This record gives sequence, structure tokens and C-alpha cells, in this order.
Amino acid sequence: MTKFSDLNLDPKVLKAIVDTGYETPTPIQAGAIPPALEGRDVLGIAQTGTGKTAAFTMPMISLLRRGRARARMPRSLVLCPTRELAAQVAENFDAYAKYTKLTKALLIGGVSFKEQDLLIDKGVDVLIATPGRLLDHFERGKLILSDVKIMVVDEADRMLDMGFIPDIERIFGLTPFTRQTFFFSATMAPEIERITNTFLSNPARIEVARAATTGENITQGVVMFKGSRKDREATEKRALLRALIQSEGENCRNGIIFCNRKVDVDVVAKSMKKHGFDAAPIHGDLDQSHRTRTLQEFRDGTLRFLVASDVAARGLDVPNVSHVFNFDVPSHAEDYVHRIGRTGRAGKLGTTMMICVPRDEKNLEDVERLVQSAIPRLDNPMGGSAPKAEEKAEEPKKRTRTRSRKSDAPKDDAPKAEPVAEKPAEKPVEKAAEKKADKPERGRSKPRNDNNNRAAGMGDDAPDFIAMSFDERRKG
Ligand code: AMP
Repeated sequence: MTKFSDLNLDPKVLKAIVDTGYETPTPIQAGAIPPALEGRDVLGIAQTGTGKTAAFTMPMISLLRRGRARARMPRSLVLCPTRELAAQVAENFDAYAKYTKLTKALLIGGVSFKEQDLLIDKGVDVLIATPGRLLDHFERGKLILSDVKIMVVDEADRMLDMGFIPDIERIFGLTPFTRQTFFFSATMAPEIERITNTFLSNPARIEVARAATTGENITQGVVMFKGSRKDREATEKRALLRALIQSEGENCRNGIIFCNRKVDVDVVAKSMKKHGFDAAPIHGDLDQSHRTRTLQEFRDGTLRFLVASDVAARGLDVPNVSHVFNFDVPSHAEDYVHRIGRTGRAGKLGTTMMICVPRDEKNLEDVERLVQSAIPRLDNPMGGSAPKAEEKAEEPKKRTRTRSRKSDAPKDDAPKAEPVAEKPAEKPVEKAAEKKADKPERGRSKPRNDNNNRAAGMGDDAPDFIAMSFDERRKG
């Protein structure tokens, strides 16, 4: 088995690794670090949870040890799709560079330009940035990229989804042709392949197992749910979420609840708090200090539930998440794999539960096609009775206005037998809202509409764990 000491890393990096307690390199680290240290370009096909951040930060620090940064001329550049991911890379850098004198700056939206300018003016060895913010600084004449020796593109597939690829191409063009490039992506969509062919030179290609490696520990389920009435569906769905959490009892230590739309992130978080759950929202419209604080609380265990959008939670590394709840079926099938990958990390057990309303059945089909398996159907823990008192607390006006003789209860767990009651006019409205919710922090081109491509994207790589039955994994 490879040891860190076999990898030719700088002794100061090795010393920092000892402090982290890591015993052996992960496969992406064992594969990427040696060619990176030889000066080669690296193409890493790996998801979060594989140790990929260390796979590029460790060799970067080793390579940059010698040399000094000049004012406004960073010596290396790490591009990340989201602020949270950028902050996580910065944390990795701090951990592995702690015995060196290397400096870094984090350029992300939501932080004042003035502070960031001051750091850049001093000269930094490592600049970690989201593409939009980096170009803002460049356009203001505050940044010169002609001394960049190493450029890293992290989570390139997410950059593609968020419409950042033109920015990335532009940034590649602003850095010297002689730079060394480390490029990481979970998947190799044709557009990503094109970029790597254009900007990487004879890269060492390292591919590690997909989410299956973490997903084997994840127990999955979906509750098929239809509101007793259209105007009560949202309230009842929130009650169902609470019932699902409660049905897990003490097993549910903490959890991330994913919603497709920012507006629902806020509503669900507020509703959970009102019902006594320790929950807070996180999405792109909240200011950076607020997001950072909320995340830290969740990491520390002082916050039990994080209600999140995909963009805000993408790539987050929070160990020890016991549960992931999909309040909505993701509208991009691949997000399902990313969402559930927030739990069951580092060999721990995880549970994930999803709510599927009739309107989302098409999305569920896409998810199941992508993962090439049926997600086990769960019983509705509310059975035949809806939590009336709780509904009253939430939407009193609606209820008095629209009284019905029917039971309040969401009656059925198997909506395949139910007619799909969908107003045709709702679809475009919802789609428009989703687009807004998924809007990149600063995209300069339209995100691609690739639902179909994505559904096909996983091909034969579908995680094995998804093929296992719910019961099998519960027992196991
Ligand atoms: P990443 O894929 O970069 O998001 O990393 C996932 C998690 O793995 C992080 O919590 C890292 O701290 C952890 N990690 C990285 N490298 C190792 C290693 N060699 N051994 C154990 N854990 C690691």
C-alpha cells in the first residue's frame, strides 16, 4: 500500500499530514500526486469525498515552496464553482501549508473588494476564487495573471452546469501557456472533454470510483405523496418531512434537507423552526458571513438541520451527516447522487429519504434511469391522519377560506394509482423559478439545458449500492 512518505511530497507537507491523522493516501491522491510533482498536467475524474482537494493542494504546496509572489501576481490559481467550495479549499490549504510561509487569498462574492485588494497587493502564492469574482478583479486592473505557474479547475462539471465554462476558457487564456494545470471533474461530459483537450497538455488521467464507494453505506427511500388537496399540498408536505424525521428517532442525529428552490429553502427552514426543530437555511441569496456562520454551526453540531439548495451545498464536506432528506425530487437527476453523497461519508452509515409528489414523478423517473435502479418506496409515516394542529399553525387563512369535506390526510403512499392532478399552467412558472434558484453567483452564459444528457451521463457507472434493496441495506 502506498504511503504518504512514498509520494515525494515536501517534508513540511508531510509533517502537516501527520497532524491531520491521515494514515494513507486515498486512490486519487496516490494517483495524482506523483505526476503533479513531476510537473505534469493532471486530469482527475473524481467526486467530493474521495480526497481530491488534498490531491491537488498537497502537490501545489510542495511545488510552490520555492519562490516568492510579487504584488498582484499570484503564483497559482484555484477556481471553484461556489463560495463554499472555495472556502473549503482554503481550509485544506491552511491545514497542509501550516509549516510553510506560503500565503493565500480567497476571492469570493459577498466579501468586500477592499479587503481582497489589500491581500492581492501584498502578493499571494495561492489565489482561490470563484470565476466571476476573479474576472471582476482582473477587469478592475487589480490582478495580473501572467505569473500563474499552476492553475486548478475544481468541479469542472459543476462549472459547466452553472454556465461558467466561457469564464474558465477566458481565464485559461489569461494565464501563461507554460502553466501546469490540474483539472478535476466528477464526469466527463463532451464539453468538459473539449476543454481538457484544448487546455491540458498530455495530462496524467486518474479516475477513481464514483459515488458508489461512499454510497454503499447509504440506505435510500422515497415516499410517494399526494396532498389531500392541491392548496394543502405544500403544508402537508412539510408535515410529512417532519414525520419522516421523527420516524427515524435518535438515529437521525442531524441532516441536510434539500429543496429545489431557494424560496422553499426559506419556507421549510422557517416552518421547521416554528415546529421546534433546530434548523437554518443556506442558499445563494444569503450573505456570505451568514452562510459561513450557518455552515460552521452545522459542522460543529450546534445546528441539527441544514435546509439547503443544491448550489449552496454542492461539494460541502461535512463529516458525520446521518441523514439527507430530499424535500423535492431534484430536477437535475445527477443532483440526486450529489445530494445523497452528503451522508454515508468516510465509511459511516447514512440514510436518505425523498418526498415525491405527482408533479415530480417525471423527475423521479429521470433519477431512477440515471442510477439504473428503482429507489425503494417507503410507507408514509403519517399513515392516514394529517397533523391538523400543525397545519393550523402554519396556514390558518387558507384553511378557513377553502374548507373541504374530504379528510385532511394525505391518503395514499402509492400515487401511481392516483390521477396526477397537475394544472398545466403551473409547470412553466415552476420551471422559471427553478432556473432562478439555480442561477450561478455570476454566470456569463446560459446554463445548458441538459436534463437528458445528464440522465444518460452515468451510463454503466451506476453505483452498485443503488441496486440493493432498502431492506437488505437496513439489515446490513
Ligand atoms: P474531498 O474529496 O477533498 O472533499 O475530501 C473528503 C474528506 O476526506 C475530507 O474530510 C478530507 O479531510 C478527508 N481526507 C482527505 N484525504 C484523506 C486521507 N488520505 N485519509 C483520510 N481522510 C482524508
